Amino acid sequence: MEIIREIMGKFKIGALVVVVLGLCFSCSDDESDGTTDEVVVGTLLDEDEKALLFMLEEEKMARDTYDYLGGLYGITQFSSIKLSEQSHMDAVADLLDWYGIDYTLRAYGEFENEELQGLYDQLIEKGEIDAINALQVGATIEDLDIVDLQEFIDVTTNTNVIAVFENLQCGSRNHLRSFVGALESANGSYEPLFLTLEAYTAIIEAANEQCGQ
Ligand code: MN
Ligand code: MN
Repeated sequence: MEIIREIMGKFKIGALVVVVLGLCFSCSDDESDGTTDEVVVGTLLDEDEKALLFMLEEEKMARDTYDYLGGLYGITQFSSIKLSEQSHMDAVADLLDWYGIDYTLRAYGEFENEELQGLYDQLIEKGEIDAINALQVGATIEDLDIVDLQEFIDVTTNTNVIAVFENLQCGSRNHLRSFVGALESANGSYEPLFLTLEAYTAIIEAANEQCGQ
């Protein structure tokens, strides 16, 4: 699990390059009412672009892992949460499309990001051991996801990015409760690797949430 810890350090702030996309929502040139022209320009900071591209593949990692483990074990959590991860990927992809940012979605189990590729390979290896390990892999992905999203939320001022990431986080809390609940039913257990014990306990003890879109 060493590689998981490395990931945390690798996706910090990039250069402050402002990409001006020239999106113009209200460019009317009507001078008859004496108002000045109002031009709204959609901009995406380089660090926000990196965050979106990273989270797109982290959500893909969740989807691909659950797809694979769902095929190995008849555990309903994997097949249902996989669909939620697809919707999370779609939400991030929609935002990238809106900003005109190119991205590549590779085949199942294949990633552009080398760290995520390495992490995926390790998680699959662990998940293949047995159903308990597979459910722990699910909990680990959600544990990591919540912390990664929070780190990005903490450093951005982009309200579109914050809204999408907070919605993904809401889903991840539900997923974490679901995996941990299944683990406990199977006499397994989970200890958080990324969340603090306090944050983890608060999530586990809370009720399921309705996550808005
Ligand atoms: Mn997700
Ligand atoms: Mn999830």
